[in-house]
Amino acid sequence: MTRYIFITGGVVSSLGKGLASAALGALLQARGFTVRLRKLDPYLNVDPGTMSPFEHGEVFVTDDGAETDLDLGHYERFTGVSARRTDSVSSGRIYSTVLEKERRGDYLGKTIQVIPHVTNEIKDFINIGDGEVDFCLCEIGGTVGDIEGLPFFEAIRQFSQDKPRGQCIFMHLTLLPYLAASGELKTKPTQHSVKELRAIGIAPDVLVCRSEHPIPDREREKIGLFCNVRKEAVIAAYDLKSIYEAPLAYHREGLDQAVLDAFGISPAPRPNLSRWDDVMDRLTHAEGEVRVGIVGKYTQLEDAYKSIVEALTHGGMAHRVRVRAEWIDAEIFGREDASPMLEGLHAILVPGGFGERGTEGMIKAAQYAREHQIPYLGICLGMQMAVIEAARNLASLPDAGSEEFDHESSGERRFTPVVYHLKQWVQGNHTVARKVGDNKGGTMRLGAYTAKLTPGSKVSDIYNATSIEERHRHRYEVDMTYRDALEDHGMIFSGLSPDAKLPEIIEVKDHPWFIGVQFHPELKSKPFAPHPLFADFVRAAKDVSRLV
Ligand code: GLN
Repeated sequence: MTRYIFITGGVVSSLGKGLASAALGALLQARGFTVRLRKLDPYLNVDPGTMSPFEHGEVFVTDDGAETDLDLGHYERFTGVSARRTDSVSSGRIYSTVLEKERRGDYLGKTIQVIPHVTNEIKDFINIGDGEVDFCLCEIGGTVGDIEGLPFFEAIRQFSQDKPRGQCIFMHLTLLPYLAASGELKTKPTQHSVKELRAIGIAPDVLVCRSEHPIPDREREKIGLFCNVRKEAVIAAYDLKSIYEAPLAYHREGLDQAVLDAFGISPAPRPNLSRWDDVMDRLTHAEGEVRVGIVGKYTQLEDAYKSIVEALTHGGMAHRVRVRAEWIDAEIFGREDASPMLEGLHAILVPGGFGERGTEGMIKAAQYAREHQIPYLGICLGMQMAVIEAARNLASLPDAGSEEFDHESSGERRFTPVVYHLKQWVQGNHTVARKVGDNKGGTMRLGAYTAKLTPGSKVSDIYNATSIEERHRHRYEVDMTYRDALEDHGMIFSGLSPDAKLPEIIEVKDHPWFIGVQFHPELKSKPFAPHPLFADFVRAAKDVSRLV
């Protein structure tokens, strides 16, 4: 039997619902339960794939090729459970399914309404995989009271009625603001938020209260009384130095106990928190610091590179060193010589991105790393830029570039495309084909693909394997036609697709650490299982930091 935990938020946004959900998932696992986490987003985009990283942060890609909310990244990092396409849904997706069904005539001429047609679609979604795990945690995006959130709240209310009694609980996150003038924590916004929730028929079983100050017992009692929640189920959530403290901190405050009590699971299995003790030990007992420059386009919003920052932290944990990410706007190279900004860095990372803006800066960063023997990790666009750099400066192709920067439809050609728009490829045992005019969301190579690594190459040593699976999200590919010319100059194609048609990894010979990958290794890194590429990249940076 699967039990359901619905997580909602009130008072203000950005309270850390995703993190609380992920930490609760980890705590339930620590007590021996199996979990799955889901995100239900009220916005109208069909998925976040077409949203700007400036708006919405990173797009998290699953093994099965869905472009999802970055909260799914938290879920995976805390639980190690690989998310699936069916773990993320938006109003846009729900409505488009309902409208498709209506056009197909599936509703047999009925009037289509939010209740029951939209709410049924949401309930069906939540119920996917029922029975597979002990707990399914469903986080509802946004804040109670948002207009577009209403169908989701109504659907989870109905869902809890449809299931036998005691199989669903509601957890609500709120904020206790502190008034410095009177030196008090105020509970009124929480009371109002719960009132709003109860008005739509949902009575929370557990309240998680974000607070910058300790919550005195009498305030806890008051919240319990006014919100009709047991005092022990009013859980404090204080600010944390690191997100990875969350499981232990929530456990100390009694979150997992309160949740199991709400389900009447007694006696509760004892938790084994050794995984999180070890994570905290590595985080708090780091020696020294390495400086990693991230040369990208979306550097104003760190959330745009969420998984990369986390994967670097995990790499640091593997080698007990702190990683300081230094953000360098790639566009700056267009205005001035930015190499002074790269001096003194222990490693350079060029992350993924779309469009031409900033790419000349990324190319210069790759050149700097190659020529100065600085460890370089190029991810997706970062690999493509390293190849363009080598083509221009080593293989005598001064106008090398990517088809992404020339407008295919206009026929304009400024570059020799060493990176081209791939329109047909093999996935597993079938061929996928795309046209230029296809829907924006559907034209990419998305999700997990296998890569074969050359035995004896640096990457096969790092992975300790000759076959790997990593997640992709891109339209363009490095052109194999240039392989020989580049390999003659020391840029080796050390990872290829199984049919040997697509380059997956390049590395530079005679360099301490220069690797470009067409996929996104950051998506699979965990604090308790750092990704080998990130771990070894940080190790290389640590070696450089010891030299200077
Ligand atoms: N824009 C490039 C492409 O589509 C790289 C994408 C990425 O970095 N994720 O191939």
